[in-house]
Amino acid sequence: MIPAPLGRLVAQLAKLPGIGEKTAQRLAFHILRSPREYAQELSQALLETVERVRLCTRCFALSDDELCGFCRDQRRDDGVLCVVEGIADLMAIERTREFRGRYHVLHGVLSPLDGVGPDQLRIKELLSRLGDGKVEEVILATNPDVEGEATALYLTRLLKPFGLTVSRIAQGVPIGGDLEFADQATLARALSARREL
Ligand SMILES: [Zn+2]
Repeated sequence: MIPAPLGRLVAQLAKLPGIGEKTAQRLAFHILRSPREYAQELSQALLETVERVRLCTRCFALSDDELCGFCRDQRRDDGVLCVVEGIADLMAIERTREFRGRYHVLHGVLSPLDGVGPDQLRIKELLSRLGDGKVEEVILATNPDVEGEATALYLTRLLKPFGLTVSRIAQGVPIGGDLEFADQATLARALSARREL
């Protein structure tokens, strides 16, 4: 019979995506064998993350403050704004080290069948960032699948009246592929070979 607290830990770990019952048990045993400090730091990190990490009020990336590190960084270029679907895409672009502008996270793509319209995305907030005229180029880096393309098209129509350059990342990313899983070189190429819309 497995002790109750250990059983609870296994059950909680097994809820994580990609973690089956067996892996959950292995992880739980590992935690149990580790020095006590590890369990303390792990539980503290878990709590602190859910309590302190929120969305940046400007770009909607993750942050532990009003503004995230990307928005606070003085060395980044205010003139270029890269629009992505989600946090994982932002991270993928950041890993290429090719982009030094600012970001805007939509938190989804237009998907009428799933009931996701413009109001469910951070589109109003994107437009309100363009008012001061600092942004000269908006790079649409939504995924090259049907919904990503439709979202890019929709945004292009909204952005054109602002009189700025609107560009789309090149199709270096495999069609229907996920930015998140594109290798760094491919994504870097897709960024630098972006085309104006
Ligand atoms: Zn931010």
